[in-house]
Amino acid sequence: MRWYRQRARNLPWRRTRDPYAIWVSEIMLQQTRVQAVIPYYERFLQRFPTVQSLARVRIDSVLKLWEGLGYYSRARNLHEAARQIVVRFGGRLPDTREELLSLPGIGAYTAGAVASIAFDRQEPLVDGNVIRVLCRVFRIRKDPKQAETRKQIWSIARDLLPARTPGDFNQALMELGSEVCLPRTPQCEVCPLRRACLARRHGEQARLPFRRRKKPIPRYLVVVGVIERSGRILIDKRRPEGLLGGLWEFPGGKKRPGESLEEALRREVKEEIGIRIRVDGLIATLDHAYSHFRIRLRAFRCTYVSGKPRCLGCDAVKWVRPADLGRYAFPAANNRVIQALRQRREPAKL
Ligand code: SF4
Repeated sequence: MRWYRQRARNLPWRRTRDPYAIWVSEIMLQQTRVQAVIPYYERFLQRFPTVQSLARVRIDSVLKLWEGLGYYSRARNLHEAARQIVVRFGGRLPDTREELLSLPGIGAYTAGAVASIAFDRQEPLVDGNVIRVLCRVFRIRKDPKQAETRKQIWSIARDLLPARTPGDFNQALMELGSEVCLPRTPQCEVCPLRRACLARRHGEQARLPFRRRKKPIPRYLVVVGVIERSGRILIDKRRPEGLLGGLWEFPGGKKRPGESLEEALRREVKEEIGIRIRVDGLIATLDHAYSHFRIRLRAFRCTYVSGKPRCLGCDAVKWVRPADLGRYAFPAANNRVIQALRQRREPAKL
C-alpha cells in the first residue's frame, strides 16, 4: 500500500469518487490498454456525465462515441445497464456486489472493482494482473484457467483484503502487476513484495503463472464492397447481438474455398441485402486483428446493378452520401477502408 501511494499513476478515474465514472472506466479498461482508454473516457464523461444522460440517448450515439475502442458489446451493455439503473435503482448505481452483478456487462471482476473502489466495500477482485502477482507471490503452479485454481486465487484475494481502503488495496495489486510484476520481465529488484515472493525465492518468476500453449489463431479472407449508385454508397447495420453488433459496415463477408474474390463478394451481397452488383476495382487490402481471429480484408469499388436492398442478414440498410459516412459508427477495419477512399477521393469526393 505504501508503494502504491508513492507510485500510483495519476489516472483520470483515480481523481474521482463518482461511482458512475468509476464504473465507466472499469468497463472501458476491460481488455484495453490504459493509454487507449484515457481519451475515450474523457470524451464519454463529457458527453454523458450522469447515468441519466446515458440512459436517455439511443444506442447509436453511444456506439459512435465508442468507435475504435473495440469490444462493442461493452457499450451496448453499459447503455442497457444505465437504463436499468434508472428504472430499478432510481438512477443511483447500486453499492453491493450482488446488485451490481445483476446488471448487464458486470461480472465478478467489475462488481468487485466498483464495490471496493467506489463504495469502500470489502470485496476482492481478480484480473489478469492480479492472477500473475498472486500466482507468483504464492507460487501457485497450476493452470489459472482451471475453475479450481481460479477459486483458489479469488479466495486468496479475499483473505488479503484489509478492512480499510479495500479499493486502494485492489488497485495496488493491479498496479503492481501492470508496472512491476510484468508478464515476461518481472522487475523483482524494485518490487515491494520481493522478500515475500515465493516464486522469486525459487527462481520461478518467469515461469509462472502456468501458461497453456495457445491454439493457433484462425485467419480469414474477407471481401467487402463499396457499392455506389447515383453518388451514394450503400451501408448496412449489423444485428445487435454478436461481434461488432449494432455497428455499420460495407456489405460483404468471408470468402469460401474455390470462390474468386469477386464471386464471394457478389454472393455475400446477394445473401446479405438481396441485390446484384458489378465488382469494379480493388480499393484497399488490409490486415486486422480481433481478439480470437485475424482477417485480411479486401475492399472493392462496386456498382449497383439490380434489386431492392433489404435486410436479409442485417438490421438496416441505407444509401448515404460519401460525406456523411463519418456520422455512423463503423468497425476499425471499415474505417480504414473509408480512409483509403478519402485518400484516393474515390468513388466520389469524401
Ligand atoms: S518479486 Fe518479482 S515475481 Fe514476485 S511479485 Fe515482485 S516482481 Fe513479481
